Amino acid sequence: MEKNMDKINRLNKIINNSSYLVCLMGVWVSYECGCTNYRDESDSYDIEAKYGYSPDELFNAAFFNTRPGQFFEFYRNDMISVLGEIGEGMIRLKQLEDSGKLKCTITRDIYSLAKRAGCRKVYELHGSVFRNYCQRCKRVYPIEYIKNSRGIPKCEYCSSIVRPAVSMVGEMVDNGLITRAAEEVQRADTLLVMGSTLKTPLTEAFLKDFEGSQLVLINSREHYTDSRADLVIHGKPMDIMKEVVIQ
Ligand SMILES: [Zn+2]
Repeated sequence: MEKNMDKINRLNKIINNSSYLVCLMGVWVSYECGCTNYRDESDSYDIEAKYGYSPDELFNAAFFNTRPGQFFEFYRNDMISVLGEIGEGMIRLKQLEDSGKLKCTITRDIYSLAKRAGCRKVYELHGSVFRNYCQRCKRVYPIEYIKNSRGIPKCEYCSSIVRPAVSMVGEMVDNGLITRAAEEVQRADTLLVMGSTLKTPLTEAFLKDFEGSQLVLINSREHYTDSRADLVIHGKPMDIMKEVVIQ
């Protein structure tokens, strides 16, 4: 952390001088907060040993449609059993929004971390496990309804399947939402990328829209594309965010 102090000072300057700050929050932030991590090979292996399928095969639209019972067994026991913790770093993001600096957060996180911290303007591109709805009548259900259900959760009113409002593998992402998020990036003078490299589907989708002057990257892992950013801090994003002092 010591060697990062100069960089954190620069980060504070950039953030406090920004007039339209947008945050792109990558999946490694979710993992840092303790959410399920199927990018981790050992976790992924455990799932395959338990169910006979990989997490990508299980959390898949085709699988959901043909084997909903098995889907919900996996979903209940291994996707929503651990929802992650909101720490000081995520609260700082909320405070940045309160201060008027941060205009919005764009993420593929499905555990609603930013919203749970109190952020109001969050583009949850892949949806949220906290929202669930009946496939037929569209009635909405809280996460507890899925957690407390047995077998396949069914709608109280029409008995159809209640599903999470989350994009599974093989499903389209809401285009309108992407367009609105892209417009935010276009307006940004400062883009804060955290928990992602500059070469993931999330960052590649939005970096082309960024015309601002300050691209900041906070990520634990080094990557050959890091040098595209004006400021790079290698460290856990939530640890670094704790150090942000809002002026
Ligand atoms: Zn229904």
